[in-house]
Amino acid sequence: MLKINENYKNLEESYLFSTVGRKIAEYSQNNPDKKIIRMGIGDVTRPLCKAVIDNMHKAVDEMADSATFKGYGPEQGYDFVRNSLKAYYSSFGVELEADEIFVSDGAKSDIANILDIFSVDNTVLVPDPVYPVYVDTNIMAGRKIIFADANEQNGFLPLPDEKYDADIIYICSPNNPTGAVYNKDQLKQWVDFANKKGAVILFDAAYEAFISDPELPRSIYQIEGAKTCAIEICSLSKTAGFTGTRCGYTVVPKSLVFDNTMLNKLWLRRQTTKFNGVAYIIQSGAAAIFTEEGRKQIQESIDYYKRNAKVMADAFDEMGIWYTGGKNSPYIWFKCPDDMDSWDFFDKLLEEANVAGTPGAGFGKNGSKFFRLTAFGNYENTVEAMERIKNMVL
Ligand code: PLP
Repeated sequence: MLKINENYKNLEESYLFSTVGRKIAEYSQNNPDKKIIRMGIGDVTRPLCKAVIDNMHKAVDEMADSATFKGYGPEQGYDFVRNSLKAYYSSFGVELEADEIFVSDGAKSDIANILDIFSVDNTVLVPDPVYPVYVDTNIMAGRKIIFADANEQNGFLPLPDEKYDADIIYICSPNNPTGAVYNKDQLKQWVDFANKKGAVILFDAAYEAFISDPELPRSIYQIEGAKTCAIEICSLSKTAGFTGTRCGYTVVPKSLVFDNTMLNKLWLRRQTTKFNGVAYIIQSGAAAIFTEEGRKQIQESIDYYKRNAKVMADAFDEMGIWYTGGKNSPYIWFKCPDDMDSWDFFDKLLEEANVAGTPGAGFGKNGSKFFRLTAFGNYENTVEAMERIKNMVL
């Protein structure tokens, strides 16, 4: 008789966003005259830029003509995208070969799929709080997970410790949910630690486009030694509004060699067997992001969100509330006032300020007294929400 993957029984139900949604729906039903401002969403709200749309239209026309029609494409991505990404990395001093870059349908899939090339016997280190996909995908595979405590004391940026006996290390910077960003010295400590241990770092750079401080690393490959220990996974979702369009990329340097095996070769084998590549029309749109025109246009949206983040950060400064993020990140992660539990604060914020956010408890035990707000809404609502929060708190 068929046996299922028993590991799925070890997953915890994900109540976070369904509970948040239900609470907001109930509150608005009982208070139809109140305007609720939603700042819990992790999705973007601004449309794709013109350069992307123009390229996609052109690609659609190419698909209608037998002379330019495209069938199956290379699973690892068209050369025109891989070369654009290579040039992008080069623009901040990281030299890669085009065949070290794999175009994907987004970071979430790659974060999950990359695990295919590693043994289930490996131990995994994830920060707490964390983007839940790192934890759940490893539970599904049956790996042992240990946690690195991120908290107020370490600014939600845990550093290596000899007690972390792990083979796979997840790092997300700028971080979701905390918005905290590692500096070069801190990342160097992780790189040295991984190289010494023979561990691999899975570096999630999904929010790199929000970094404007030139001293902060956008890529782990800006750190010496990273090419022998790190895989970088990135996404165009937040960079260019591709959450519904789907495109990302993963970098697997050829110098990553474990067990006498090049990880680049394993990943290529995995992708060419199990993945069909990203649609030509989408990749055409993605390539536009890396043109001069495209870069300018996506920057306008990033700047728009960053202006929201600044409004939020300024408000928390004014309230004297401890927070991380908001500066090189679209997230603000703050300490609930009066030592409140994050779900209690969720209710208070909804009922008294009519603002909805995300309770930190949903991201791990260390989030139980913290709260996440996002900068992906519109500017006027963000300003109004911050006024309401200030009125509530001050
Ligand atoms: N990594 C982090 C840290 C995220 O927050 C998200 C999306 O919210 C992703 C990856 C997923 O990105 P994608 O839309 O490319 O799957």
